[in-house]
Amino acid sequence: MVLHREVEPLTGDDQAIERALEDAHLPSLLPALAQVTGDFSLLRDDLRPNASSLAGEQGDLSPEQQVEARALARDALIRFRDSDSTPAPAPSIERLRELLRFMIGDAVRDEYLPLLLEELGFPEGDARAPQWRKEELDGQTPFTVGIIGSGMSGILAGIRLKQTGVPFVIFEKNEEVGGTWWENTYPGARVDSPNHAYSYSFAQRIDWPYYYSTRPVLHEYFRGCAEEYGIREHVQFNTEVTFADWDDERATWRVTTRGPGGAEQTHEVQVLISAVGQLNRPKIPDIPGLDSFDGPLFHSAQWDHSVDLAGKRVAVIGTGASASQFIPHVAEEAGELTIFQRTPNWYLPIPHYHDPVPDGLQWLFQHVPHYAQWYRFWLFWTTAEGLLPMAKVDEGRSDRSLAVGEANQQLRQMLTEYLEESFKDRPDLLEKVIPQYPPASKRIVIDNGSWPAALKRDNVRLLTDEIREVTPRGLVTEDGEEHPADVIILGTGFQASRFLTPMQVKGRDGIDLHEQWCGDPRAYMGMAIPNFPNFFVLYGPNTNIVVNGSIVYFSECEVQYVMDAIRTLLEEGHRSMEVRKDVHDAYNVRIDEGNLGMAWGVSTVNSWYKNEQGRVTQNWPFTLREFWEQTREVDPSDYVLT
Ligand code: NAP
Repeated sequence: MVLHREVEPLTGDDQAIERALEDAHLPSLLPALAQVTGDFSLLRDDLRPNASSLAGEQGDLSPEQQVEARALARDALIRFRDSDSTPAPAPSIERLRELLRFMIGDAVRDEYLPLLLEELGFPEGDARAPQWRKEELDGQTPFTVGIIGSGMSGILAGIRLKQTGVPFVIFEKNEEVGGTWWENTYPGARVDSPNHAYSYSFAQRIDWPYYYSTRPVLHEYFRGCAEEYGIREHVQFNTEVTFADWDDERATWRVTTRGPGGAEQTHEVQVLISAVGQLNRPKIPDIPGLDSFDGPLFHSAQWDHSVDLAGKRVAVIGTGASASQFIPHVAEEAGELTIFQRTPNWYLPIPHYHDPVPDGLQWLFQHVPHYAQWYRFWLFWTTAEGLLPMAKVDEGRSDRSLAVGEANQQLRQMLTEYLEESFKDRPDLLEKVIPQYPPASKRIVIDNGSWPAALKRDNVRLLTDEIREVTPRGLVTEDGEEHPADVIILGTGFQASRFLTPMQVKGRDGIDLHEQWCGDPRAYMGMAIPNFPNFFVLYGPNTNIVVNGSIVYFSECEVQYVMDAIRTLLEEGHRSMEVRKDVHDAYNVRIDEGNLGMAWGVSTVNSWYKNEQGRVTQNWPFTLREFWEQTREVDPSDYVLT
């Protein structure tokens, strides 16, 4: 079973408990045990963790505090076992508040209690599930929702629609669900945000094999969710949406698809949701002669597994998050590897990045009810703000070329020390890998030492000269030198700011979405666009996060909002809703101001966060809580309802 959520009775002997406790995550174990035993004396003031984003893994508990916490936990676990693993009655909201306060202190305020409980999955397990059914609101009017894409967001939208009884169809260009986790099969692909938090709040797993799971594990999770929630039967596979246009008279979207064998079909839906993501269409670099290359050439998201790299001369263009994951694997296989780096990354050291969840912790997750939930909540909370304060611009700072503020400078210092330490034996490499831009202007890549180890191999060369052209035999750099290659791999990223391409979408009065955007995509809350009634975008403009949180959380907020929009249409008998232009414009002014207060907004370094004009089209500049607040429900006065 993919969604393993059930715990087993605790039956181990005292030694088994003690052994497991060696691997325990203590800040989340004590609240879990207090809840399950009803013994709130476990929440001792002197064992409160520090839940700030920069705290250590054990919430900065000292070795002595950890010994104390383990001893308390040991006794509680033995008592729990001896009571035949009978959990205490479910805690009241007041009691839950106490448990939360132990973990995160005064941050437990009334206004965010619902958010905390939603993420924790208490009290009812799926607090974000829509509380309405179509037949109760409007049983008669034919109403179908079309979803484009069955990745993480599309599956989620399907799950919520299913819960309301609103008919829906999902168009999927691939033969399988999973989106990015289906397509990106490159060696080393894994999630780079903590996995227990990178999962749906209502479909938590207690047995994730890794802290940061590999691509097959994640794909299996999302595929399993689609299966378990009955979404697969709504998916039309191998069916790509090529065109969608709005018929104002009939308040209907006409969606044209190209199905298996190229067959075109037209479908009519009342609401259309794009769930195609931001990182779906590979960016092929515009380097002269690229087409002339004689050997295999492929992009990281279209990995050609039929190409045997063993002993070959391999060239990799790009060193972003994807390349940082596959380069260590390619380096082991290739005869020679030449890496063409344009801009180096900052790397954040996470020593357990590739590690499996240790046996003791797995055992505890499987035997202590709600422990995995509390652990997930710890990760959610400690990454919620993440490094956001360290990415903020200090107003009045004149030189922002290397750091945008005091806190950002401290981050720079910390990340520089990691590089200096990692490359202290290779000054030739060190000078190439220290970024000359403020941290958080681009994605900070996670590392456990595998990146420096790969660069230092004898068969690897890191080049920083610009590529002038590609020839049939290899790549020529600006200095005129030719670098022979048998295979070229493009780690060159995605056409992120060209949202929804190559689809053509026409709204009211035949207005073309791409012409309206003119290379500068904008939406209200990332979802709603003037002139495009009943059309919503998930993971749309300005909903990407750089240094905090998980994108699954964003999708959950967005889908909650879209479901409320559908409820508004059905309940109030409206045919269509279109966001008001003034509301949309004012919102985007706020977003732009926010982004100009962040490292990625003021830095001039290349990044996929900006469009060609240099405006940040991808990122959300504020906290996770602010996104949740604005997406909880639709304000009908933001829309023209007809
Ligand atoms: P990316 O971050 O956009 O990196 C593209 C790389 O290609 C950059 O190094 C870029 O250099 C280089 N490049 C592009 N065009 C070039 C050209 N013409 N000549 C030379 N170099 C060129 O793309 P990505 O690595 O695929 O990552 C995209 C995003 O996907 C990440 O930021 C992350 O959000 C997500 N991702 C996540 C994971 C994960 O969760 N584990 C893994 C992979 C990706 P410049 O920097 O100079 O532009």
